[in-house]
Amino acid sequence: MSAPSSTVLLTGGAGFIGSELVHQLLAETEARVVNVDALTYAANPMSLDDVADHPRYVFEQVDVNDREGIDALFAKYAPDTVYHLAAESHVDRSIDAPLVFVETNVVGTANLLHASRAYLDGAAGAAVKDRFRFIHISTDEVFGSLGPEGKFTETTPYDPSSPYSASKAASDHLVRAWARTFKLPVVVSNCSNNYGPRQFPEKLIPLMTVKGLAHEPLPVYGDGSNVRDWLHVSDHARALRRMAEAGEPGSTYCVGGNAERNNLQVVHGICDALDALRPGDTPRRELITFVTDRPGHDHRYAIDASKLERDLGWAPRHNFETGLKETVGWYLDNEPWWRAILEGRYQGERLGVRAE
Ligand code: NAD
Repeated sequence: MSAPSSTVLLTGGAGFIGSELVHQLLAETEARVVNVDALTYAANPMSLDDVADHPRYVFEQVDVNDREGIDALFAKYAPDTVYHLAAESHVDRSIDAPLVFVETNVVGTANLLHASRAYLDGAAGAAVKDRFRFIHISTDEVFGSLGPEGKFTETTPYDPSSPYSASKAASDHLVRAWARTFKLPVVVSNCSNNYGPRQFPEKLIPLMTVKGLAHEPLPVYGDGSNVRDWLHVSDHARALRRMAEAGEPGSTYCVGGNAERNNLQVVHGICDALDALRPGDTPRRELITFVTDRPGHDHRYAIDASKLERDLGWAPRHNFETGLKETVGWYLDNEPWWRAILEGRYQGERLGVRAE
């Protein structure tokens, strides 16, 4: 095998978006992919079973908070690209246990920035110094909640509502500070809600799919009117790759699917897909129950992705309705993937209900 054209150090590759990016990078590029993941509750190593023996894939079980461990990885692999996805990612868990979000999302990001800078100032070769990029994967939740009109852009002021979004906002500020102060070539992605295969079943779409499959009640928060702008995970991974290839160092890109749907519409879509694929005696929509809303629940997110489209030639390939049906089909076809989780560390219970 010829030497890899590039070495990518990717954090959080055993999670939902990270595992999609690992697959894309191995399938569509010649890069060596070093997946750095602590394997928290949110990781599913089964997501990577099919690439475990790939000659360009390396797995390192290291916590992003481990200073020396991260430094050693930079020295060992000499990456030219870092994709930083490792994070605590579930808003409801950030209500129950906020401090781990600060530790991983804020301190862990600072640690990775610090290690990147030390590496670029020191051991990195001249060619790597020229093309090094640090792609920071953030969320549209840092912007807070929108009213009925308008969309988030790269210049929208930050106004996070949850401990999760506040920790991601803090990490974005750190990344920008490292760009301005230390000239670290970073690119920040603020992306809307992702959907697709291999998402942990605490999140809306896989949770409703596995509950609906079992004909269990489908708990929708509040009145189901909260709006999210849904993007297929593979479209997000493509956007991140374009940012690494051609993104302007120091800049931010908003990423979204131009697919605003409220939670009730999404759950209806899941019910209808399940009824078509696994018909039952009664329509799944009858399983919907409205439950107490999430504390601090942002009402609407929507993204204007025109900068990414115009400057980097990116466009989403998936239509939401088709993508949702395919996603439901993936969970039906891959029951062992989520069954192992539901029989172990998470049984579909409600999280994030604040004690009064
Ligand atoms: P996920 O929860 O599915 O996966 C997170 C991964 O990070 C897991 O494999 C976990 O083991 C790993 N991890 C957690 N803490 C770690 C630590 N301290 N050290 C090393 N690894 C650690 O998350 P996801 O949905 O794939 O999200 C990935 C990134 O994308 C996050 O930064 C998230 O904020 C961001 N994001 C997610 C969405 C979305 O809709 N899922 C949208 C926009 C941005």
